Amino acid sequence: MTEEADVVVVGGGIAGLITARELGRKGLRVTVLEARDRLGGRVWTDHRLGRDLEIGGTWLHWTQPHAWSEVTRYGLDITRGPRPEEAYWLAGDEVRTGTLDGFMELIDPGMRRLLHETMQRIPRPHDPLSEPGLKDVDGANLRDKLDELDLPVEEYRANEAAWVGHFNAPLEDGAYTSALRWTAATAGSWHLMHEASAVFRLAGGTRSLVESIAADTDADIRTSTEVAHVEHDADGAVVTTTTGERITARRVVLTLPQNVLGGLPVSPALCAEKQAATEEGTASKGVKVWIRVRGPITPFFAYSSASHPLSVVRTEFVGDDDAVLVSFGADARRISPNDLDAVRDALRVWRDDLEVLEVTGHDWVADPLSRETWLIQQPNQLTRYFAAQQRAEGVLHFAGSDYANLWAGFIDGAIESGHRVAREVTAGLTETA
Ligand SMILES: Cc1cc2nc3c(=O)[nH]c(=O)nc-3n(C[C@H](O)[C@H](O)[C@H](O)COP(=O)(O)OP(=O)(O)OC[C@H]3O[C@@H](n4cnc5c(N)ncnc54)[C@H](O)[C@@H]3O)c2cc1C
Repeated sequence: MTEEADVVVVGGGIAGLITARELGRKGLRVTVLEARDRLGGRVWTDHRLGRDLEIGGTWLHWTQPHAWSEVTRYGLDITRGPRPEEAYWLAGDEVRTGTLDGFMELIDPGMRRLLHETMQRIPRPHDPLSEPGLKDVDGANLRDKLDELDLPVEEYRANEAAWVGHFNAPLEDGAYTSALRWTAATAGSWHLMHEASAVFRLAGGTRSLVESIAADTDADIRTSTEVAHVEHDADGAVVTTTTGERITARRVVLTLPQNVLGGLPVSPALCAEKQAATEEGTASKGVKVWIRVRGPITPFFAYSSASHPLSVVRTEFVGDDDAVLVSFGADARRISPNDLDAVRDALRVWRDDLEVLEVTGHDWVADPLSRETWLIQQPNQLTRYFAAQQRAEGVLHFAGSDYANLWAGFIDGAIESGHRVAREVTAGLTETA
């Protein structure tokens, strides 16, 4: 039997849910098809290690207009982890101990020099391709740009580790322009960029956002429903699931991550740029690990270097007799978030006094429904593919944080893209009505 909808949205992450909500408000019949057995996609609040942990996306900020608008709309409470009272970093083989402010002062000269051309290259972060000169630097990777600064080794390693925290990628794979985009979104301030991307979170978890949006739409939302094939022509599309259900629609919105989209069978095929972007893949192939240690401990922050399996670790929850740390590394192939021994060894680079009790995480890179963590482009992908990645193809439209203008790769970007595509779809349907 073939069902009918005005719009089928493929993917029940934040971008898909926002798209569905906005289209529903226009009176359209929307069906959301999500392959996982839960909504949220790359945001996922799960109860592990005795706490509600964010296995995927976590932090948001009032400088992220689309995310903050949702915070206000649903009255969501904001919280933050404990302020770090100690910081650890490396100078060669030696571990330095100080304060987070001291570490920030250490990386400040490198950050300023690295990012000095931010607003010249991306003067309008909501329109990242507005400056033609961007092409001149889009071929550079972040490693080469850091090397050009010729920093003293302690500053170099510290800057490197801070960037692994941001990029979740080997720095030689990540585009320098991705660093510029993040910093342009905070008007050139690296301090504010750092705060925006790593401090404040939802008290009720990202689950509270996902549930609020899902409860605010009449869309027919189906989980455990994977799309296997999309056929389209000028009049509409047929979406077929892996179990053989068929839904016809006037428009289809695909919200799949860059590393997944090109692998979905679509006929006629998606444009060459969208496919090439998937084949090349994003730079982001890192890992996020949650670690429960025996307590009490003093909240701390630690940075190593890009060559360590874990480059950044910080305290996110403190209890009376335990604490939970969150950590990031550049390459998920180098450390499994569920390997307690490997994680304990990785922590020893700074501290051998911590007793690791449990570890957990999710390998988003191996996960066939994401194949990446948060978007960091490879060199040249912004100027080669971005415009085509956003572009509709007949009745197919493309939402997703990876294709956002302002905070691409963030929760904010997912929301932005949902609004953009809902507007495009509504306009298209009004024209053809
Ligand atoms: C470890 C990690 C940490 C992060 N940290 C932050 C952070 O602190 N702050 C921040 O703002 N952002 C962060 N992010 C990024 C943020 O989570 C994402 O950018 C955002 O959630 C992406 O939303 P989306 O809807 O565009 O994509 P997704 O959430 O990936 O949604 C796409 C959906 O499509 C589904 N799907 C895929 N294929 C099919 C198919 N064939 N049929 C049906 N469904 C399919 C997927 O299951 C998924 O649910 C992080 C991400 C990760 C992984």
